[in-house]
Amino acid sequence: MKIAFIGLGNMGGGMAANLVKAGHEVRAFDLSAEALAHAGDNGCATFTDAAEACAGAEAVVTMLPNGGIVKSVYEASVFGHAPAGAVLLDCSTIDVATARAVIEAAEAAGYDMVDAPVSGGIAAANGGTLTFMVGGTGEAFKRAEPILAAMGKAVIHAGDAGNGQAAKICNNMLLGIHMIGTCEAFAMAQKLGLDPQTFYDISSVSSGQCWSMTSYCPVPGVGPASPADNDYQGGFAAALMLKDLRLAMEAADSAGAATPMGARATALYEDFAGAGNGGKDFSAIIKTL
Ligand code: NAD
Repeated sequence: MKIAFIGLGNMGGGMAANLVKAGHEVRAFDLSAEALAHAGDNGCATFTDAAEACAGAEAVVTMLPNGGIVKSVYEASVFGHAPAGAVLLDCSTIDVATARAVIEAAEAAGYDMVDAPVSGGIAAANGGTLTFMVGGTGEAFKRAEPILAAMGKAVIHAGDAGNGQAAKICNNMLLGIHMIGTCEAFAMAQKLGLDPQTFYDISSVSSGQCWSMTSYCPVPGVGPASPADNDYQGGFAAALMLKDLRLAMEAADSAGAATPMGARATALYEDFAGAGNGGKDFSAIIKTL
């Protein structure tokens, strides 16, 4: 297929390269000349204008920083520029309301469109092992699925437009909450005189077990290899966790959902990122506890 790809940063760069590897003709655009040149090295055709990249494309994939940028890129460069009938896939993490509004505008302009945010970081984007949670009509999902499958290990239909974003922020709110809970438990166990490895051996097979403990332990040298073993470098940046928690709080407000733990996690990550730690892995929050 001819696929336009807009937004070739940390995540989009590897995703576009995997579409090329799967045999697609990828038409790339990014505001950053460096990101664009890197996409060219990976076999993408490069364009200096997003609308030109979309002209003649059968599908358009976007991987952009936020909802405001997604809305403006679709309005300025995709709608009316991609051929009528093209399928549009926004893989960025953005607010549910903007995702729904952009998909409604796409449908009114004659396109099938899905929101398809991802779980998995840069390594999964490069390795083609992302999980996609997809919102949109059954027909749009059917058309998007084979394109997403070339970039990931799982593609799950979450329901109507915006439900991919809803799944993503509910999941990441839970992740932020149980990471902080895991950090608290390890810090307190140590203060009570328990060796962290001993606490891990007990809790990892008891009812406190969770992903933050057994797959991503915030204590160096305990559990499988994690960013804690690398001085909290790499992994999932605290600034990105904060972005997702803020989106979750915005969605909770608009839906009238009570999220007291999510609100507390947001406040703690605000303090942590605000103290200059936004670039560290999110598990580094253990240092504040
Ligand atoms: P990034 O900043 O590395 O990449 C974004 C790219 O978009 C940049 O190259 C930038 O130049 C480009 N861009 C910005 N405005 C543009 C415009 N108007 N037109 C064209 N290009 C434009 O960010 P990233 O880490 O790749 O994240 C992208 C999305 O994926 C975000 O929504 C993020 O929340 C989500 N996400 C990131 C991770 C992660 O671990 N990095 C994990 C899951 C989801």
